Amino acid sequence: MTASMPTAFVGHGSPMNAFETNRYTEAWRAFGAAIPRPRAVLAVSAHWYINATAVTAMARPRTIHDFFGFPPEMFAFTYDAPGDPELASRVGDVVAPVWVGLDLDSWGIDHGAWSVLRHVVPGADVPVVQLSVDASKPLAYHVELGRRLAPLRDEGVLILASGNIVHNLALLDPRRADSGFDWAERFDDEARRILVDGEPEAVLDLAGHRDFDRAVPTPDHFLPLLYVAGLAAAAGERAKVMVDGYVYGSLSMTSLTVGI
Ligand code: ZN
Repeated sequence: MTASMPTAFVGHGSPMNAFETNRYTEAWRAFGAAIPRPRAVLAVSAHWYINATAVTAMARPRTIHDFFGFPPEMFAFTYDAPGDPELASRVGDVVAPVWVGLDLDSWGIDHGAWSVLRHVVPGADVPVVQLSVDASKPLAYHVELGRRLAPLRDEGVLILASGNIVHNLALLDPRRADSGFDWAERFDDEARRILVDGEPEAVLDLAGHRDFDRAVPTPDHFLPLLYVAGLAAAAGERAKVMVDGYVYGSLSMTSLTVGI
């Protein structure tokens, strides 16, 4: 019996992180080097935020460049990991009776996934399946779905959730290159306290936090955290901080691991 594959929530920040070396990308790289080689990756990215629960099920997922205003070389980059149609249907089995659609042609590997995977699995030689973040569902649904994915960790699947705990692009302040607004730090601290020292499912209480509306103006980047909370709850494990910090005041780069 091998140990469960670790799992992680990664604060991905700017797509530029795919092409840079900084203390965040170094931490992601160190995480990838520290874990056993995964059989496959199941990526839960903030950037596949649709009104459905779906997984990519194609054999050759394309690289999605879902951003604008960045240098042309970023649009030329491809992350050529194969897909894993078998894992896609296995996801449907483990989360049943929740229904998961098999996506054969609409999505692929988006920058929430590849900007992190380029560092965690630099060889792009491990199959990747993405799970959408279902915008039509309440917060508790995402924790529950994370819980149900837990058996995949015992099958050698690296579940990698990619978002940002605090993500307010409207309030970015270039004068605060490496620090957070007070409200951003309060919210990030509380999220971290729950996952590192508390009961993971209390992550849902964050919806009542006084800074929730500023930290989470839209749910897309916050929701991936709930999958890791569900996985931690299922395993009775606590999270550890992989790396933390702030960019431009209103973006937290906190990344958390479970099982390592
Ligand atoms: Zn993003």
